[in-house]
Amino acid sequence: MKRLKTRPLGIGGQILLGFGVFILVVGALLWLFQIVLLDPFYRAVKTAQVKATSEMVQRYLDDQDLDDQVKELCLNTGINIMVTDEFGQIDCGWRSSQKESFLNNMTRAGRAELFDNVNFQGGTWLTSYHSPFVNRDGTQDEVILYVTITRTAAGLNRMVLLESEITPVDSIQETLLVQVTALTVVMALLGVVLALLIARKISRPLSAINESAKVLATGDYAIRFREGGAREVRELASTLNYAAGELSKVEGLRRDLLANVSHDLRTPLTMIKGYGEVMRDLPGENTPENVQIIIDEAERLTNLVNDLLDLSKLEAGVLPLEKTRFNLTESIRAILHRYDKLADYRFSFHCGEEVWVDADELKISQVVYNLVNNAITYSGEDKTITLSQTVEGDKVRISVTDTGEGIPQEKLKDIWERYYKVDKEHKRAQMGSGLGLSIVKNILDMHGGQYGVESMLGRGSTFWFELPVSGEESET
Ligand code: ADP
Repeated sequence: MKRLKTRPLGIGGQILLGFGVFILVVGALLWLFQIVLLDPFYRAVKTAQVKATSEMVQRYLDDQDLDDQVKELCLNTGINIMVTDEFGQIDCGWRSSQKESFLNNMTRAGRAELFDNVNFQGGTWLTSYHSPFVNRDGTQDEVILYVTITRTAAGLNRMVLLESEITPVDSIQETLLVQVTALTVVMALLGVVLALLIARKISRPLSAINESAKVLATGDYAIRFREGGAREVRELASTLNYAAGELSKVEGLRRDLLANVSHDLRTPLTMIKGYGEVMRDLPGENTPENVQIIIDEAERLTNLVNDLLDLSKLEAGVLPLEKTRFNLTESIRAILHRYDKLADYRFSFHCGEEVWVDADELKISQVVYNLVNNAITYSGEDKTITLSQTVEGDKVRISVTDTGEGIPQEKLKDIWERYYKVDKEHKRAQMGSGLGLSIVKNILDMHGGQYGVESMLGRGSTFWFELPVSGEESET
């Protein structure tokens, strides 16, 4: 049974959703600040203004032109201001409009009593109340009253009274509500348009990549991904282009392998079968030379199959490293000793002191064998192969140099690949599996050792690897 799955949102949907949430949040914040908190904000600002004005009046109390200053403050701020002494006697008083107010309607006795009360309470009093006076339009103002008792420099008691109207914010709130609503709607529309535009810009190159990826999936590795659009999309396209390139390389190698391995397997088999038949049918052909050919060809097959098995085991990681401390110098000497019967090749090994390493002796020997075998296979007319051992710091470097045909610079990187052969049309004498250097690379990678090759066309090549030196220890 097919399970019902909800289809995930596309890029457009996700951006739209994001914009939607953003606009909702902005709308809610606008509504909160502009409408809900408008009244408390306004009150706080107004109260602060009244207090600041009161402080200014108190600073002018000793001035000759107190009355002018107070008048100006009153006109500038719209706050009614009055200064009295402790008996309620008015020093100066100004009101900003002709409206009836609490201050104007207070009697002298009332002011004297207020002085006493405020003085008793600590010298300041802030209150707000609905004015008892009804405006012409039937409304009643809300008023802040702020009273401060102070003493002038001359030592006189003074009461500073300030009275400020608090304009109702209801009508402003209504206007703002309309504005906020309109703004939210405009933002929502803009958001939708922007989201669609952005989504289109992002999803177009992605769709193109998707189309190309489908072609790649069918095995067409020549496909190119268009590197356009946003940085991430460009990177994706370039990564996919790289992957496609690598896939096509592997595909090429696989084809070569099939061709080479089948050729490499078939040739010795044909030879063995042919010689076997000849020897069976023609008694005179049953010579030791012919038997040797059959043995040689069988050995060639064995080597190829062994290489294939070794490499697949190494790559699968089923061959663990069996590290021991051994004398590398001695080990290389022993390997070279085995080539003694190749009388027409000249081997030399330059080494200083004996060097011990912690490594898998068998595998390192395989590395040296492979490098020496290659040097023999590709060596030049003078058939000279030079090995050298140099110690630098805590590293020992083993180099194998031949004077053969060399390797073109552009191929130096590829020769470590499986089944890679510089000369595809190899002569039979030089036939190799194309696996030797991959085995070398795998073994040295497992040891964490460095390796490389320097080569000059027509002059020869030097393959080298490095291992960390360990302290000397007698072999047991
Ligand atoms: P093969 O079994 O073909 O030698 P390798 O993996 O050992 O496979 O080497 C890969 C290719 O690198 C060889 O086919 C050859 O073209 C090149 N090569 C390796 N060693 C040498 C060398 N000493 N001189 C020149 N070419 C070499």
